Amino acid sequence: MSDRLAPLHSYLQSLDTLQSQMLQHTIELAEINSGSLNAAGVNQVMERLRAMTADLGGEQEVIDLKPHEVINDLGEVNQHELGKALRIRKRPEAPLQVFLCGHMDTVFPKDSAFQKVVHLDEDTINGPGVTDLKGGIVVMLNALKVLEASPWAESIGWEILFNPDEEIGSPGSAALIKDAASRVHLGMIYEPSFPNGDLAGQRKGSGNFTAVCYGKAAHAGREHHLGRNAVRALCDFVSAMDDLNGKREGVTFNPGYIHGGGPTNIVPDKCINRFNIRLEKPEDEAWCLQELQMIVNEISSRNGIRLELHGHFGRKPKVLSPANQQLFELAKECGHALGLNIDVKPTGGCCDGNNLASAGIPNIDTLGVQGGHIHSEQEYMKISSLVPRAKLSAALLLTLAKDESEGNGNDWLKNPEAKQ
Ligand SMILES: [Zn+2]
Repeated sequence: MSDRLAPLHSYLQSLDTLQSQMLQHTIELAEINSGSLNAAGVNQVMERLRAMTADLGGEQEVIDLKPHEVINDLGEVNQHELGKALRIRKRPEAPLQVFLCGHMDTVFPKDSAFQKVVHLDEDTINGPGVTDLKGGIVVMLNALKVLEASPWAESIGWEILFNPDEEIGSPGSAALIKDAASRVHLGMIYEPSFPNGDLAGQRKGSGNFTAVCYGKAAHAGREHHLGRNAVRALCDFVSAMDDLNGKREGVTFNPGYIHGGGPTNIVPDKCINRFNIRLEKPEDEAWCLQELQMIVNEISSRNGIRLELHGHFGRKPKVLSPANQQLFELAKECGHALGLNIDVKPTGGCCDGNNLASAGIPNIDTLGVQGGHIHSEQEYMKISSLVPRAKLSAALLLTLAKDESEGNGNDWLKNPEAKQ
């Protein structure tokens, strides 16, 4: 262990005996169904977390979120109730403030067949959300316990956000993340790491959109000439949109869902398409919107056809600031001291770390457990990653707290502009 981290060793050691308890908590949380639109299930996880965090102290707040709006297959706006968010703050007056975040929801709906956790072998469990990210929540809480038991705890304050809607793009909790960004200096988010333990660095931004095309219904035999075919018009829209792929580096368009029409003896008057855009640079957004608008204008200028575009870019690209780079260096140093060889890799996936970075807060968003096949029924978690990942987070927290208590900097976090 490096000189700088050697004094932390005895505190980190307290985690060595906790693997089976951490595993038990992970399984318990994973077996509560918390699909993003299963508000009751998400709230049950939230209540369990209120109990599990009681001994950490801090002030708990249960926060209602506005309903989530979805355009249904008929092109109508539907409202879906979301679970509540849980925010816990401790020592808000401390000179260095850390934001910790983990989502309570999963991609597995209430009626999914995937509800139970099973052991695949001695070191592997398979279950809904074990890796993404119930295991990460357990890692976070155990790391905080180590901080609280250390002599340096008073030097830093923390704020946890357990949000209920990350898997659908954090439509309700994005505002809470932005709000936290005004109070904190860095973020620690508990999405799973890469299967080998590497961390995600730069991330693409993402937007979800729905195109709703309206035409005019008519009898396909008797009055075909009076109809205006919405399926055809929407297909032209999808083709033109898909043709934008390859026109700008790092930007991709994915038409993912199409629905429309009905009986084949009727000229269809409605058709919808959902699509996703990924991009690398903040300025790509304007380019995408401009290109899409040109296509929408062309389609809508056709006689009897109207095309409406709904949606927005919910996740800005995560571009690494110098302070964020330095935070990764610190994580690597902590990992090295623990015998973990940690690398940082870019990814096209996005998460709440995008939102935090776009608000100017350096963060590491893959501090959770090691596992894989997330968002599928093959999702697995490596049991032996629980303790080392908790140690990694605890080492980060202890280093920051100790440096703060000794007046050794952290200026790179508190005043990142001065560093650049
Ligand atoms: Zn996740």
